[in-house]
Formats: sequence, structure tokens, C-alpha cells
Amino acid sequence: IMSNSSLLERRKAAVAGGVANATPLFIEKAKNAEVWDADGKRYLDFAQGIAVNNTGHAHPKVQAAAKAQIDNFSHTAFQVSMYEPYIELAEKINAIVPIRDAQSVFFSTGAEAVENAVKIARTATGRPGVITFRGAFHGRSALTSTMTGKIAPYRAGAGLGAAAVYHAPFPIPHHGITVADAVAGLHTIFKTDIEPCDVAAIVIEPVQGEGGFYQAPKEFMQELRAICDAHGILMVCDEVQSGFARTGRMFATDYADIEPDLMTIAKAMGSGYPISGVVGKRSILEKVNPGGLGGTYGGNPVACAASLATLEVIEEEKLVERSAQLGAYMLDRLNKIKDRDDVVPIGDVRGVGMMVAFELVKERGGHTPDPDIVPKVVAAALKRGLIILSCGYFANTVRLLAPLTVPTDQLDEALDILEAALQEAAA
Ligand code: PMP
Repeated sequence: IMSNSSLLERRKAAVAGGVANATPLFIEKAKNAEVWDADGKRYLDFAQGIAVNNTGHAHPKVQAAAKAQIDNFSHTAFQVSMYEPYIELAEKINAIVPIRDAQSVFFSTGAEAVENAVKIARTATGRPGVITFRGAFHGRSALTSTMTGKIAPYRAGAGLGAAAVYHAPFPIPHHGITVADAVAGLHTIFKTDIEPCDVAAIVIEPVQGEGGFYQAPKEFMQELRAICDAHGILMVCDEVQSGFARTGRMFATDYADIEPDLMTIAKAMGSGYPISGVVGKRSILEKVNPGGLGGTYGGNPVACAASLATLEVIEEEKLVERSAQLGAYMLDRLNKIKDRDDVVPIGDVRGVGMMVAFELVKERGGHTPDPDIVPKVVAAALKRGLIILSCGYFANTVRLLAPLTVPTDQLDEALDILEAALQEAAA
């Protein structure tokens, strides 16, 4: 018989332990915000495949579009024979990004998109250097795990990282780094590590994802744009986790009123069908010779069809607006929970649309991270039927990634469970 525990035994024997599992669940059925596991228990899923199913599990429109494409054909390799959905998707993406005269190229994973953005930037500038931020997450490949601004667990034990990657401080005022400190940190790198004329790209998540849902302040984004312009450095916004209506705008970069040179996109783009992309100024993408970009599965037709349907659902169901509204509602409720004196001490509560998170801290009213309490809260929520994820440079952040399509009664149900879990962990 199939149960979580029998499947877990088989998983332990057959699958590498290097893949960590946030829950011990095996999912048998999933619909919008809900999932059912191998023991028949129902959960509200506020992880949604790590910010992938912004349209919820198995959205009928996305599934129908993917099925129709599967029934027609599922793969030719765009590099061999082309197909319309790839072109249509590029046209639609080019039209919604905050980049004028944009072109797109598609891959399969976020890490691949970031790898290619760096490759494009190095080719276009003829420079080697890449600057990223402490706490950033850009992937698990050799280059992207080096760009990631946290060693354990992502590349602990893996030895030397990739060359020419430097980490600048990311501004988080309540953890002691102001925007001015972060700008000064960047100038220190120019002084001590690499000259600006050797830097190809500065890569930034407009809202750090794995790092803890910290939004880069608008003034910082604008300062980065100015520094890039002054030195011929390309500004790359990694929107892999923050894109496609998650933050109450189509892209989190939209909050900064700047035009990046390149953007990386993935995750919610395909609602679960693996697809990613680099979008950028035509003048930059043009610098890469034919054959320099691609991959067997990049822009797979089934994933393109799912992605086109995802864009339609975002528009039809007004998910950008819904994300802003429900995000504000969630913040309000979390701030009320924070004020209770019978829950574990909650520090900063923050959110950009439905990219919502809060920190657990040692002392009420303070900011000293308490990473040890986080697994207890996550486990207490799971026991009560809510899947949530932790994250954060300080490992003290709980993030809520509800589908943007979550029914409001289920959102309330999830927040009630969370409140009870925060009480249980305090007891
Ligand atoms: N960039 C960001 C901002 C991410 O959040 C992630 C995934 N968490 C990645 C890149 C890597 O994406 P993937 O896991 O699809 O390679």
C-alpha cells in the first residue's frame, strides 16, 4: 500500500539525499490551493512548487493548453524546426517587460536563464566580472551557485566557486545595512576586488526570494542603474521568483522605475511546465553569435503553450490586482498576529503583493534572528494542514506563497492555521 511512510522508505533507498525535502509528503492530487497526500490528508499549499503555480495547481486553462499541444506534438527542438507558440510567447513577453525594444530567448530552468544572462553580458561587454549580492539566490549550477550569496547549503563542500564573481552587501536596514552602506559596499568592491571597467554585469533580484523576501529599495535600484550607466556595466534583474504578478505588479522591477538591460524569468512563467528565459535589449542580445544560445529543450512547445495560457489567466482573472489586494490583506492580518503576546516573537513583517514573509526573532519588538524556532512553526502548521516554507539569509524567515487564485475562505483558513501554529510554537 502507498503511504507517505512507505514511499519515504523507497525515496531514501533510491534517491540522492543531496536533494532536501521541505515536507515528508507525497502528493497524489492537487487543485488550486489544495493538495492531498498519499495518506489521504488535505493541505493548503502555500509553497506552490516554490513560487511556480501563481495560477494554482492544475489551472483548467493552463492544463487544457498544454494538453492540446501534447496531442499535436511535444518536441522538435526550436534550434532544428521552429513553431509558432515560441514566437508568440516571445512577442507577448517582450511587450510586458520594462525593457524597450526587447528580444527573448527561452530555456528550461531559472539557473539556466541566469547562466545565459551572464554569458550574454560577458559576450556583449567583453568583460569577465559579475557582481551579485549577499543573500541572493541564483541557482545551483557551478556559476549560479557561486553567484548565490550564501554558501551553506547550496555549495558547501563543493570547493572553489566560479571565477570573477563578487558579492556586494544587500540593503536591509533593520539588519544594519542601509542603502548608503550597500552603495558604499559596492564602491569598496571596485576599490579592492575588481575595477568597474572589468565588470560585465550587476545581477540583482528586485525582491530577494530565497534570501528572505527583502525588496531592494527603489532608490537603491536607481543608484545601481546610475552606476551601471557610468561604467558600461549591464544591469540584470533576476525575476525568476518575483515575476508574473507575484508582487502585485507584473514584474517586481516595475516598482523601481528603471529599465534593466537584461531580465531572467522562469518559475511562474510556465505554471509548472519547465520554461525560463532571458529578455533583454535587442542591441545586447544581437552580440551573441548564432549557436551561442539554446539547449535541446529550451522553449519546449508544451511549456510555451502553458506559458501563453498563464499570461491569459493572469489577465482574465486580474491576478496583478488580486495579488496587490490579497497581499495587503495578508500583511494586515500578520501584523495583528504579531501584536499578540501568546505567539512566538515576530520581527519584521513584510510583503510585496503576495510575496509575503515575516521574521521570527529572539525578543518581542527586536530583530535578533531566531532560526531555531522556524522549523517548529513550519511543522506545527503542517500538522494542522498548511504547507509553508522557511527562507532567509538568517534562516529566520517564514514565507507565504499562496497561489494568486486562492479562494478567500481558504486564505483565511490558512492564516488561522498559521496563527495557531505560532501559538503552539510559543507554548
Ligand atoms: N533565481 C532566483 C531568484 C530563484 O529564486 C531561483 C530558484 N529558487 C533560481 C534563480 C534558480 O531557478 P531553478 O531552480 O529553476 O534553476
